[in-house]
Amino acid sequence: MQLKASITIFFLPLLLLPALSGCSAVRNINFYSTSQEIQLGQSLDKEIHKQFQILPDARVDTFLALRGHKLVEASDRKDLAYHFFLVKSEEINAFAIPGGFCYVNLGLFRQSDTENELISVLAHEINHVVHRHSMKRLSQMQIVDAGTQALIGNANSMAGTVTNLFTSIGLLNFSREDEREADRDGLLTMYRAGYDPQGMVEMFEMLKKGRETGEPGRWEKLFSTHPITDERIRNASQLIAQLPPIEGMIVDSPEWKGTIEYLREKYPPPKKEDKEDKK
Ligand SMILES: [Zn+2]
Repeated sequence: MQLKASITIFFLPLLLLPALSGCSAVRNINFYSTSQEIQLGQSLDKEIHKQFQILPDARVDTFLALRGHKLVEASDRKDLAYHFFLVKSEEINAFAIPGGFCYVNLGLFRQSDTENELISVLAHEINHVVHRHSMKRLSQMQIVDAGTQALIGNANSMAGTVTNLFTSIGLLNFSREDEREADRDGLLTMYRAGYDPQGMVEMFEMLKKGRETGEPGRWEKLFSTHPITDERIRNASQLIAQLPPIEGMIVDSPEWKGTIEYLREKYPPPKKEDKEDKK
């Protein structure tokens, strides 16, 4: 994504955020109602549809929507209409924005060995929405900076301003605590939805290995928004060890096999010479 120059005033609160994020009382403050969050999500989604190449593909869209909604049913937040999109990008990445809009890159989809690996990323992203991490981040910024408050306090100017916040200073650059929360509850969500949670550990390990050995450009984006550390892999393994195993947990479904074969054939990885990721 092209990062446009931002209004300097926004950078000051950003510098102060890490200190605030450490305080759990402040970290959990959210000034926004669900309807404000949805309104913001819709505006951001429009922007994302302009800046990214969203693939309308009935087969993949149906696959994502069915899995996504199954995960939402097993999550702790069902007061939103979630939407799932496939993004034509080779970067190994996925992201979710406020209001329940979730995006999965082609590169990540193609790279997943099993369904439960892909599901683990989706479950993680859904839990950023469940915990309203972006809205809490915005609220923290309001506390630190009255200028931000005046700007985003006005519902009419909110969309434009926040698009700036989203693109320029990374509304999606979550704190380490946010990532831990999305990992833990993402893992529990996929487990409750009937998926083998080991997929999360395998996904983390694949991402870590890919970063070390793969083409840097394709892997860095996910690491900038969700750095994979040994601690995250360890935490996931420890949580799995505490969960009673359930008979018949899903690793791959027949639909997955059909969809991934279709996707790999229809959208083969670009050849080296004509590679031009849209950023
Ligand atoms: Zn995350």
